[in-house]
Amino acid sequence: MGPPGAGKGTQAERLVKEFGMKHLSSGDIFRAEKASNSELGLRLARYMDAGELVPDDVVVEMMAKAVTQVDGGLMLDGFPRTVAQGEALDKQLAEAASPLDAVVVITADDDIIVKRIAGRRACPLCGRGYHVTFMPPRREGYCDDCDNAELTQRSDDCEATVRQRLEAYRAQTEAVIGYYKGCDSLAIVEVDGNRPAEVVADEVTQALASLDAARV
Ligand code: ADP
Ligand code: ADP
Ligand code: ZN
Repeated sequence: MGPPGAGKGTQAERLVKEFGMKHLSSGDIFRAEKASNSELGLRLARYMDAGELVPDDVVVEMMAKAVTQVDGGLMLDGFPRTVAQGEALDKQLAEAASPLDAVVVITADDDIIVKRIAGRRACPLCGRGYHVTFMPPRREGYCDDCDNAELTQRSDDCEATVRQRLEAYRAQTEAVIGYYKGCDSLAIVEVDGNRPAEVVADEVTQALASLDAARV
């Protein structure tokens, strides 16, 4: 969990490699639906383009389906974003006798968030994330892994929408952290995401590895 641009996707990409989990990003799932121009996709676009949260009933239905399809370890990114979504997820995971093990919270200051989002780029073919200054590709504008794939910028990564998304985070999503802090058996790992990605990654990896070791 963390505000837009804190580094959730970046850290999740690294952690799933380290721990052999599947990365499930609600934003990526919604963007794929949006790109298909389906009726549902058009409905999602109305909220996403305005930087507002998609209504809980739509989110819960789509994410429940996505979670069900995963067999094995799971890293959720961008979901849940409201307490109602968290409760629905808990119910689904309890029924599957597979509750959450840990919640990773990445913090970042507003000025850093704005710089990160302004320079965020991604590969449309493989999904790999970049930053024009902080994580540049070897050849400017192109993915390191996919020959000739031109990096793209998200349509909602503009200043006005970012402000709205930050507001939505404070008004609706921050409460989810409090919700999880009230769960006894759940480990909360809080990291300062203002630092370089490798430093953040090392800290999260160590914290999760020690949880893993304690469980064995
Ligand atoms: P970021 O990585 O910048 O935090 P995401 O890719 O996670 O952004 O989300 C992009 C947009 O998709 C959000 O602004 C919101 O409109 C929608 N969205 C993603 N996940 C959720 C969710 N769990 N609940 C409601 N809306 C969501
Ligand atoms: P989120 O998923 O939380 O919205 P991302 O992981 O997409 O955030 O990161 C936002 C942008 O900032 C991306 O362009 C990414 O390359 C860059 N970035 C992520 N973490 C860091 C970091 N620790 N230091 C500098 N840039 C970062
Ligand atoms: Zn690529």
